[in-house]
Amino acid sequence: MEYRIIAETYSKIESTSKRLEMTDLLVELFNQTPPESIDKVIYLTQGKLYPDYMGVELGIAEKLAIKAISKATGINEGKIGEMLKEHGDLGLVAQETIKKKRQTTLFSFEERQRLTVEKVYENFDRIARAEGGGSQEKKMQYLAELLNLATPLEARYIIRTVEGKLRLGIADMTILDALSIAYGGSKELRSEVERAYNIHPDLGYIAKRLATEGIEGVRSIKISLGIPIRAMLAERLPSLEDILAKMGGKAAFEYKYDGMRIQAHVGERIWLYSRRLENLTDQFPDVRDAIKSAFKGKEAIFDGEAVPVDVNTGELLPFQVVSHRRGRKYGIEKAIEEYPVVLFLFDILYLDGEDLTGKTYPERRKILEEVIEPSEQVKFAIRLISSDIEKIKMFFNKAIEDGCEGLVAKNIGEGSIYRAGAREFLWIKYKRDYKVEIGDTVDLVVIGAFAGKGKRRGTYGALLMAAYNPDKDRFETVCKLGSGFTDEQLAYLPRKFEDLRIERVHPRVWSKIDADYWFVPKVVLELIGAEITLSPTHTCARDVIEKGSGLAIRFPRFTGKWRDDKSPEEATTTKELVEMYRNQIKKIG
Ligand code: AMP
Repeated sequence: MEYRIIAETYSKIESTSKRLEMTDLLVELFNQTPPESIDKVIYLTQGKLYPDYMGVELGIAEKLAIKAISKATGINEGKIGEMLKEHGDLGLVAQETIKKKRQTTLFSFEERQRLTVEKVYENFDRIARAEGGGSQEKKMQYLAELLNLATPLEARYIIRTVEGKLRLGIADMTILDALSIAYGGSKELRSEVERAYNIHPDLGYIAKRLATEGIEGVRSIKISLGIPIRAMLAERLPSLEDILAKMGGKAAFEYKYDGMRIQAHVGERIWLYSRRLENLTDQFPDVRDAIKSAFKGKEAIFDGEAVPVDVNTGELLPFQVVSHRRGRKYGIEKAIEEYPVVLFLFDILYLDGEDLTGKTYPERRKILEEVIEPSEQVKFAIRLISSDIEKIKMFFNKAIEDGCEGLVAKNIGEGSIYRAGAREFLWIKYKRDYKVEIGDTVDLVVIGAFAGKGKRRGTYGALLMAAYNPDKDRFETVCKLGSGFTDEQLAYLPRKFEDLRIERVHPRVWSKIDADYWFVPKVVLELIGAEITLSPTHTCARDVIEKGSGLAIRFPRFTGKWRDDKSPEEATTTKELVEMYRNQIKKIG
């Protein structure tokens, strides 16, 4: 197939922004495409060579592209650089320079060999795969070879594609429309083609099956291990009452973890995909190993959320701490030690050859719990099945306190299938709409401690902190504190508290948490936190703001100041924390 046909279509697509016109132009293009080349035409039109999840990047540095243009046209690189400054688009520069060359060469373009789609694809593929010594020179040669054969218009799109700047603005959905029309005559095939796309998001592959085998070929596309499935998404409603009503009075409420969506394909080989279907396997070798050992069957596909944790306080950390791990090839091991992640599984889509997406949520969850042996690093999403709004509210507060964004309600009825790629009301998210920022430091009393883990073995991993309640003359817990200490301070902690150690919780301390070590409330230190949340586990100002809830400080950090000048009764009071909570409450969005 001539590449000219593609180039001319691109040029027409560029001059419209209407989806319908784009669809018509694509239909026209597909109609002119022989079945064996349809996959290549589709990938090229999307500016790529393979589906994204394969991670093959077509890309060439601008300098190298300039070299190739220079080689193909005989115009020196400096001049091309100047033209680029003027036009701001190397594609246009290529078009112009090739045009000039054509005008000055003796034989006409008609006598030349025509550039084919297959040739363009083949050279692009070589460019994408060239590696190691001399690869830059080779890439340049492959590109120059194409430019030598190209018409001016073709040159424009070849350069844009190879630079990763094709950007025709064609959505996957538009391609699905065009495929249904080109091969079915109308949009009738659309839903079946889309079903295939949701479980096998590779438009080139689907198009080829459609072109060579007809709709039967598309129907027979199944979930397969290693090919990512488009993630099911959640709708949103503003209140738990609305959510319960929408769910028919009762639902499963799961913690909404604030991490990174991970779809794990586990078999002989393991693949981890992000929500956008990028392959993350190499960035999370710890997750890969953990899911492998937790899984008891042969092959499965799991859906879950990976969240970094503080190994010592057990606190879920903001996701930013692991975002460092994305895109980094080196130093992964160090990152794993610093920011271990826990994978919270909430769904299973496939097991040992069987597609589970048509089963209901309760059935899938049951299977999930049967095939996974939870561990330190692989756990099930915490959930509550209830129709009792008060209980659900408490559960929501607990989720926030535990470091989550809120809850995801899940339909538990007959129709509660896994809808790949869909955002519907089978899943409804409920996030809080307020945030509390502390902005100021507080002085709290150390009343207990927890044994250290990992690097902190042998010393304390975290301290249990309390505020003073003058009315009751007692100390009420607010948070576990594990950050902000230097290594020296950490190592010294057990000795610092040696003389204050007692067998059980001090009578003036009110705690619902069981610490490993208890102290006489005496030492005061200064800390700063990110926010104050309602908390079912901490006792500070319990029942004051909401029945059954106390207050907790999230992400507390030791400022480095021991407040030896303060007696424990001079520490921040529970009343002050209530004031801080009330004053600093802010609506989000
Ligand atoms: P949002 O990104 O706000 O649309 O919320 C949906 C995202 O929440 C999903 O893509 C997941 O990454 C995440 N999430 C966290 N916990 C859960 C859960 N228990 N069930 C489903 N999604 C969850």
